[in-house]
Amino acid sequence: MVENKKYYIKTYGCQMNEHDSEKIAGMLEEKGYNPADELEKADLIFLNTCTVRENAELKVFGKVGSLKRLKRANPDLIIGIGGCMMQVEEPVQKIKEKFPHVDLVIGTHNLHKLPELVSEIEESDQRIISVWDQEKGIIPDLPSVRKSDFQAWVTIMQGCDNYCSYCIVPYVRGHERSRLKENIINEVENLIEDGVIEITLLGQNVNSYAQDLEADYDFADLLAELDEIEGLKRIRYMTSHPRDFNEKTIKTIADSNKVCEHFHLPIQSGSNDVLYEMNRGYTREDYLAMIDNIKEHFDHYSITTDIIVGFPGETDENFQDTLDIVKEVEFDMAFTFKYSKRTGTPAAKKDNQISEEVKDRRLQKLMKVQNKISLRQNKKLEGKNLEVLVEGESKNNPATFMGRSRTNKLVIFPRQEGLIGKVVKVKIDNAQSWTLYGDVIET
Ligand code: SAM
Ligand code: SF4
Repeated sequence: MVENKKYYIKTYGCQMNEHDSEKIAGMLEEKGYNPADELEKADLIFLNTCTVRENAELKVFGKVGSLKRLKRANPDLIIGIGGCMMQVEEPVQKIKEKFPHVDLVIGTHNLHKLPELVSEIEESDQRIISVWDQEKGIIPDLPSVRKSDFQAWVTIMQGCDNYCSYCIVPYVRGHERSRLKENIINEVENLIEDGVIEITLLGQNVNSYAQDLEADYDFADLLAELDEIEGLKRIRYMTSHPRDFNEKTIKTIADSNKVCEHFHLPIQSGSNDVLYEMNRGYTREDYLAMIDNIKEHFDHYSITTDIIVGFPGETDENFQDTLDIVKEVEFDMAFTFKYSKRTGTPAAKKDNQISEEVKDRRLQKLMKVQNKISLRQNKKLEGKNLEVLVEGESKNNPATFMGRSRTNKLVIFPRQEGLIGKVVKVKIDNAQSWTLYGDVIET
């Protein structure tokens, strides 16, 4: 055990990484470390990295460079880097050669070894690069320090077998490995005992949950079983793959009480040619049929998506197909990305890459179209009462609280003590593209 030592974790990327950071914090606290509120006050700094797009990587290198100053001022400072970027050879080499002030590099598959490796560095001052190239299954029961008392992430599977042609995730997170249903339910029951009322199930493609197990259950069965657990109020999940989001799952959600009516279904492109090249396994017609199916089963719901513009070979017509489908579906929100070339993926080898200028222009156009739709969708909620789980003080104004509706809309309302962690009813009186404003009418 160390005494009076502090740690600081900076997390890049998705919810999986956020959840891994909770486990890193858990392991460090078991070793006796306490959280530092500022980077400058830490004895151990850990960067949990992302490599999905190039700009995420550039940010990490910028940060690593800036830490040199702190290491110079305090040679005992331990600097560690982990996460997806550390599963790729190039950046690991670069850290080895150009950033000697980094003490520890650890891959995603051997995160559980962190305490041991930190001890070695504390004792011997040596540099450790520990990156496995083989996944070793889900590492269960790592201690975890959750950011929230009433919300929790629950990993149901790791890795991805889809090999979308642009994506690096299968190469850095390994094959799909699902957790046994009993272990997931057990974890959820323990979380409820700790006061958790909302869980988010995590996986790169939750809809293929359990396909790698010799089991007679699937994702829909897992949802149905979790829905029965007393004390739990909300169930969320991410991410769904449109190819595997089936009728059974839609019906199960419609029949459930706790599974939230928020459908995040990354479409990536509206063009069949591009979808084929992306290896997504569905057409725009399949996608639209799935959306119709959702609309038939639910009165109140939201649909969000991810879209990539400028995939190699994307023509103006292909991009127009994307704009058209965005208008047709009327997404509540879209995360929009410029295609980013990832070494080692099939799309990176294509010789019909799109210029940055064209990508920028398409992104701007898409965002403009989507923003208008988001505003129009939200305006429909003015005058309506929404069930909101109060999360805490809103980011920009301590006089207000923020929370999320079941449909995952951000709702802001005047501060009222005693509401954090509670589900309340809020009447919406002003809707903007990203935010709804209202007043609590029932606690
Ligand atoms: N597994 C999830 C899925 O299939 O939707 C999400 C994985 S990824 C971390 C999140 C989003 O990043 C993807 O939906 C995609 O839109 C985007 N993305 C992945 N690779 C990309 C790339 N090379 N360039 C731009 N965006 C990318
Ligand atoms: Fe990447 Fe596709 Fe797997 Fe999502 S489903 S993580 S986009 S390969």
